[in-house]
Amino acid sequence: MEVIKTIRDMQAMSRGFRLEGRSIGFVPTMGALHEGHLSLIRRARDECDVTVVSIFVNPTQFGPQEDFDRYPRDPEGDLKKLRPIGVDVVFMPEVQEMYPHGASITVDVGDIGRILCGKSRPGHFNGVATVVTKLFNIVMPDRAYFGQKDFQQSVIIKRLVRDLDFDIDIVVCPIVREPNGLAMSSRNLYLSDEERQAATILYKALKFGEEQITSNGIRDAVKVKREMERMIASEPLARIDYVEIVDTEELLPVDTIKGPVALCVAVWIGNTRLIDNMVIDTSGRTGTEPASGSQRDDINLKHPGVKSIGGFIEERLGGFMKKIKRLESFDLYNIVISEVEKSIISMVLRETKGNQLRASKLLGINRNTLRSKIKKLGIKIR
Ligand code: AMP
Repeated sequence: MEVIKTIRDMQAMSRGFRLEGRSIGFVPTMGALHEGHLSLIRRARDECDVTVVSIFVNPTQFGPQEDFDRYPRDPEGDLKKLRPIGVDVVFMPEVQEMYPHGASITVDVGDIGRILCGKSRPGHFNGVATVVTKLFNIVMPDRAYFGQKDFQQSVIIKRLVRDLDFDIDIVVCPIVREPNGLAMSSRNLYLSDEERQAATILYKALKFGEEQITSNGIRDAVKVKREMERMIASEPLARIDYVEIVDTEELLPVDTIKGPVALCVAVWIGNTRLIDNMVIDTSGRTGTEPASGSQRDDINLKHPGVKSIGGFIEERLGGFMKKIKRLESFDLYNIVISEVEKSIISMVLRETKGNQLRASKLLGINRNTLRSKIKKLGIKIR
């Protein structure tokens, strides 16, 4: 695992990966790593050839009265957690490296940065968008992984990539929670035992809201919101910043619940501000991308009556096995895998009429990985 401190070294390293045709998965973090961060990192590792994690507590996303100075920092502990996961590169710049004297140009995300968390944290999302833009230019990833935990942030980053034409896939990963429902967060380290217990009220209120919508069929968003507020207010250590039910694109409050909505809460527990959310669609599914999730469930490769892919291969190889039995060695594994790979990629490319971006999405592999496989396997695109 390489630890890199300078922008120049990181860019040189990423340029090298790209020249070799290796896809780069990137997870930006502010450190004090927990299982939530690690879930993103494992996913990047599983989906990309190279995994880069950044650890940088970004001063420009903290307000003057906020916790930049006391934000938890544990670089040694973080590196210890990252080594066994198989991370290739950790980018850990100093503040001076990222914001040298004279740096003045920033990204303005517009109105979407002034609602929800942006109301009580003015300038926060401009700071996030600026540092993420810089990190994208430094790490040059193919895919970048963000948590649904920071739902508004994930929506803004998707928009940043769309509006500023970054050629990067944004992957939003589910919220990782403690067994008691509390969403994992580096800021949970600020909580006393009593506060930690009180903080479970966020998840309880979200579950309650979800139940009102999915089990009780309530579609009046204001009513659900009021009941969630009442529930949170019953916790003596909690002070509400906001409770909102918003659409998942513009993040604007809805009156009537239809289609996917996000229940979003921000609550002070003592001196610690915690956020949490739940995405719900009115058919009762929860998650980040309800539509594509439910479509996926309809497609079952092991459908009864349809021969399994494994069974089909065994049938085809049955006679062949008898022939190679007598040989000392044979490259069977690689031959079969590359045959299967070649035919599945060719088939999907035919279906997408040679559109590699769509094909990579259908195959569930990175665009660069697809490109290098097309070359390696000698696939002809018509
Ligand atoms: P942070 O270090 O707080 O900036 O978080 C880095 C990334 O980890 C962000 O994309 C967060 O949304 C994500 N993340 C933080 N907590 C969790 C969690 N409990 N579950 C999933 N992702 C998380």
